[in-house]
Amino acid sequence: MSTIKRNVAIIGATGAVGEEMISILEERKFPVNDLFLFASQNSAGTSLSFNHKKYRVEVLKEEKLDIFGAIDLTLLSAGTEISQKFIPLIAEKGTVCIDNSNAWRMDSDVPLVVPEVNYSDLNYFNRKNIVANPNCSTIQMVQVLKPIHDIFKITRVVVSTYQATSGKGKKAMGELSSQTIALLNQQEVHVKEFPHQIAFNCIPHIDSFLENGHTLEETKMILETKKIMNAPSIRVSATCVRVPVFCSHAESVNIETEKKATPEEIRALLSETKGIKVMDDPAKKLYPLNIMATGKDDTLVGRIREDFSIANGINLWIVSDNIRKGAALNAVQIAEALHTEFL
Ligand code: NAP
Repeated sequence: MSTIKRNVAIIGATGAVGEEMISILEERKFPVNDLFLFASQNSAGTSLSFNHKKYRVEVLKEEKLDIFGAIDLTLLSAGTEISQKFIPLIAEKGTVCIDNSNAWRMDSDVPLVVPEVNYSDLNYFNRKNIVANPNCSTIQMVQVLKPIHDIFKITRVVVSTYQATSGKGKKAMGELSSQTIALLNQQEVHVKEFPHQIAFNCIPHIDSFLENGHTLEETKMILETKKIMNAPSIRVSATCVRVPVFCSHAESVNIETEKKATPEEIRALLSETKGIKVMDDPAKKLYPLNIMATGKDDTLVGRIREDFSIANGINLWIVSDNIRKGAALNAVQIAEALHTEFL
């Protein structure tokens, strides 16, 4: 077993995803030699703990990037603008960037990776020294689609998402809390993080609207699915909805396949797939719930049934922790793969 340890940086360390990255690195005993934490001016002077030791959070500044020459792996979760601006500057110094934002995902020289699905795409990480982490709602869906596609060839996917407020970060979770408290106390509701009141409400609007009427979140799901699965001909239709839960995204997914698949075959196949847990026994009221997925690594699948409205159709219900597998865990799994096999 390798005894090499890596210098690791986290940009966006104080955020919902950044903090989870720190705890997952610790939990999975990633061989960290030294840890470097970065955030915005708001966090100047704070510190976070890792392996029982306190690490100071530094403010990310353009004139202080030389340190990245000594950092093997940098995990970024500070938003698209930061990734767009800083990744070229730090990747050039030699650090490999694992980016959680939307900035580089569709760049043809940047692998977009879910290790259980397209591990071998990491082979070209060094074209730009960047690996992109997919969108949270895409990750949990492709984990389930890929094994089915390999055997039954998926031709079309129709997905509706039920996405948690944590998908928009810490402040957004706070807004669900404060609005809920305000409403239960007959007080005025303040709306800042979401386009409308999120407490006791569902909002069919995540990220910005494009001219074609789709949102950017829906477009990410369509394009990223094709790239990760290396299946440009799969037709994908997505509707993304924010719902008033704190953690874990749920998805209703309808698939059409070339070769007929029975629910029993899909259940058997997914039961043997790493990273997936089948929970599907309606008679016992057993199906995936947000509260079951939260804090867990596995993506949960249930309500697997035939869609009788088409020749070869299957419906599924998929739930996963968006902060873990949808972001931090997937990024750390990429780091583990780079560490053991590619660096
Ligand atoms: P968050 O809780 O709002 O955290 C944002 C982080 O970025 C904080 O650490 C913040 O630092 C830092 N930051 C903001 N401006 C910065 C600057 N100018 N320089 C350095 N750091 C800066 O958001 P999040 O949920 O962790 O998401 C962060 C990123 O991950 C986003 O790109 C998001 O799209 C992506 N992502 C999130 C999820 C999810 O489920 N939440 C899933 C996949 C991908 P301060 O605390 O100092 O402000």
